[in-house]
Amino acid sequence: MGRPFNFAAGPSMLPESVLKSVSEAVIDYEGHGYSILEMMHRKPPFEAILLELKSRVKMLLAVPDDFEILFCPGGGKMQFAMVPLNLVTQGCRGGYVVTGTWSRMASEECRRVSRETTLWAGNNRELPRNVIRVPRDVEYVYFCDNETVDGTEFTSLPAVDDNDVLFVSDMSSNFMSRPIDWTRYAAIWAGVQKNFGTAGLACVIVRRDQLGCASETVPQMLDWSVYARNNSLQNTPPVLQFYTAMLMARWVDEQGGVEEMDRRAKARSKLLYDTIDGMGDFYVSRIAPEARSRMNVVFTLADESLLPVFVREAEATGLTNLAGHRSVGGLRASLYNVMPMEGVERLVDFMRDFAGRHGCQN
Ligand SMILES: *Cc1c(COP(=O)(O)O)cnc(C)c1O
Repeated sequence: MGRPFNFAAGPSMLPESVLKSVSEAVIDYEGHGYSILEMMHRKPPFEAILLELKSRVKMLLAVPDDFEILFCPGGGKMQFAMVPLNLVTQGCRGGYVVTGTWSRMASEECRRVSRETTLWAGNNRELPRNVIRVPRDVEYVYFCDNETVDGTEFTSLPAVDDNDVLFVSDMSSNFMSRPIDWTRYAAIWAGVQKNFGTAGLACVIVRRDQLGCASETVPQMLDWSVYARNNSLQNTPPVLQFYTAMLMARWVDEQGGVEEMDRRAKARSKLLYDTIDGMGDFYVSRIAPEARSRMNVVFTLADESLLPVFVREAEATGLTNLAGHRSVGGLRASLYNVMPMEGVERLVDFMRDFAGRHGCQN
């Protein structure tokens, strides 16, 4: 049957070419006679990996020169603490736009380690429609660009009544899937295992003038400026994760860059949403149409008693991990950069067939 189409929300599919390069590097890294797992991080072969990773990220996302590109261990959630520890200064607060599971967690973590104010909160199925009021003591406006669990995605910055405030965005689940306009950002960050590699590493891209605000009680491993000063090598880095992300950067470039990733993401998600909407009430999407994610298509069946059958039968035809997040239920098809159109075509064929067998007339 070949490799399954993996619709998991993360970790997610990697290109076969990347898996092959990684597996060769685990035995013998580019003819050096040692494994990448044994590689010294302060020798030229790793320095070359890091240099290529950074320069490709800079090129692919057109990162301006006044931004630093950092790589932090600890994955995505570590940044929930690092953002406020690095950006909230004396007497100020982090401002949070809460559109779903991940932005809520980020706001709660900000409250634990610093001071937080929730600027907007909704029902996890929509995005703010009106201009959000930002109090004067808000240091940054934080939002999650793509809510992985709930299936909503911003198409532009949240509208705010403050023309000077800077934004911080969690792009873990739509990183490298479209160009970024850097004008209003203090920082964006992403845990890389959804669109750009494997778990345990986050890429943080922060405007240089925002660095150096962490108080002196902040542990060094949580201080972005320490990473900036040390070229992200303040301790032994997870070398394999860096290498995989570098191979992903090469792959995105070969495929045509982030504009092409965006074109594909729109085509994939359109086919699936059109199928959900076009089959009467059999399939149901509860996400406001303008808020629908290109990356995580969250939907369900009108008859929820059929959900386990759907997931089991899909799995048996090589369409894996379609169950929704345990907090939401239903179904979720994650369509990240590496998911080929063929995977979505196979999924919608299966959905039509499944609906037909369970009494849908369309
Ligand atoms: C997965 C995810 C995270 C958490 O990443 P971890 O590496 O598991 O900590 C944070 N934010 C978003 C939007 C995610 O999708």
